[in-house]
Amino acid sequence: MEALILPVFSSETTIPVAITGMKAFNRSGIVEANANAKKAWIIRAVDLLLAKKKGSRLLADIREKREVRELTAQQVATHQLEIVHPQATWQAYDNFFGKTDADFLRFGFAKSVTQVEQAGAVLGLTVIITRHETLRDELSSPSDCYCTGKHQHSFKRPPAKDGDKCPMGDHATVVCD
Ligand SMILES: [Zn+2]
Repeated sequence: MEALILPVFSSETTIPVAITGMKAFNRSGIVEANANAKKAWIIRAVDLLLAKKKGSRLLADIREKREVRELTAQQVATHQLEIVHPQATWQAYDNFFGKTDADFLRFGFAKSVTQVEQAGAVLGLTVIITRHETLRDELSSPSDCYCTGKHQHSFKRPPAKDGDKCPMGDHATVVCD
């Protein structure tokens, strides 16, 4: 397991606003939360950029997203998961991941996150627990350019530019903002 902090946006946030917010937090992915904050998804930077290119308007319009499972208080207690310093109980988290098909976990949102009528577009920040280190790395490698292949590797520009073939040899193209 790994943990990282990501900004949270409502499903009604426009894609350019979410991209600006993601950059401000120095991340390569965000969390989308629906209106009652009951459901949440990870959206990677590459999928935000591709959606923007396609002319999609809102985060709600993006199909390429991964569910974030909310841990219940009971699961936290039963599996003895440390929520302030998750790394301190990484074995317990790995054990828990072994019993679920989730790749991303969260503890629920802070109060501010559920107040959807806030002034700014960012609803708040949340801790996300990832199953694998590679998933954490994908979300914490901000760049101008990303691979559109299975794994979102990031590239500094130059040498990569929009439309290039990925130099990692996975036959995908590179998308740049
Ligand atoms: Zn690639």
